[in-house]
Amino acid sequence: MASTQRPAPQPGILDIAPYVGGEAKAPGFERPIRLASNESALGPSPKVIAAYHAHADEIFRYPDGHSTALREALGKRHGIDPARIVCGGGSDDVINLLTSAYAGPGDEVLYGRHGFSLYPIAARTAGATPIAVPEKDLTFDVDATLARVTAKTKIVFIANPNNPTGTFIPRDELKRLQAGLPKSVLLVIDAAYAEFVVRNDYESGIELATREPNVVMTRTFSKIYALGGMRIGWCYGSAEIVDVLNRIRAPFNVSSAAQLCGVAAIEDVVAVDRAREHNDIWRPWLTRELEALGLTLTRSVANFVLARFPKGGPQADAAWDYLRQHGILVRKVGVYHLPEYLRITIGKEYEMRAVVDALREFLRQA
Ligand SMILES: *Cc1c(COP(=O)(O)O)cnc(C)c1O
Repeated sequence: MASTQRPAPQPGILDIAPYVGGEAKAPGFERPIRLASNESALGPSPKVIAAYHAHADEIFRYPDGHSTALREALGKRHGIDPARIVCGGGSDDVINLLTSAYAGPGDEVLYGRHGFSLYPIAARTAGATPIAVPEKDLTFDVDATLARVTAKTKIVFIANPNNPTGTFIPRDELKRLQAGLPKSVLLVIDAAYAEFVVRNDYESGIELATREPNVVMTRTFSKIYALGGMRIGWCYGSAEIVDVLNRIRAPFNVSSAAQLCGVAAIEDVVAVDRAREHNDIWRPWLTRELEALGLTLTRSVANFVLARFPKGGPQADAAWDYLRQHGILVRKVGVYHLPEYLRITIGKEYEMRAVVDALREFLRQA
């Protein structure tokens, strides 16, 4: 007789709605304009691509399981101790490791209501309960977060600047958040877009993570370095946290090609400056053009904008469809409780002009 018994996943796993990435295909377009995943407009440095090609004959070797050269390059670039860095297969990997190490069943993981959607997924994966804290003006709210901390709170996540809102809290507010948390609560500062921020009241989290044993900063090569396909992320924290992560991570969690590309990317400082300068021209340009069309934008400091459609969710959805029919892919953000908005990545000049022209036409017909 066939049994109805079957393996059951851990509690909470089936409550997870799988992460939905940015759309990559537009029917009828071989090379659509892709503005849905916040990949740097100019693509990776030619030096990185050369390093990748040069490595082809060596891929039969296992990588360095400690990403030594990559951590040393990061240490030198940021003026921090390489022994306090852990690398991973994207910062997603690092975020999952941190969550599983420091939260479990019965524990709570706090994040902003419009915060990056990986945090509740990571919390549920660990068996913990994600708690979405209300925000103010689509910005992380330090007071509301501190007020929501209980004995069950194990981790607070903040993406700074945040995806998909693009907003950030300044250095003083970040410090106030850390100072207000119990020392037993881990504060994870996800600085995926740090390199794009040009404000002098911004702190990526390096200062706090250097000083405070309950602070970890995570970073990625997927955004300004345009290496999303390579899967490279890292975090910086206390020796104790690094020791914990090194016990549970996969032994070879960063491929040899990824390590080499990461080092080459860090060394090409000119390419990073160029990417930031491009963003500093085209984000303000796109913001002005979309506002002139009647959309409302958040004050993004990252490499994307978040635009609200005056007629709400159905209009944002219709705009998304219209853009896709014209070979332009942007991001819906309904899962972030922002159905009346679309997120648009800063791309190349022709891509920016194309999205504005298409939206102008869409709104004329609307
Ligand atoms: C894109 C993104 C990441 C993920 O980066 P990977 O290194 O590609 O995993 C992490 N945090 C935020 C806020 C992001 O937008």
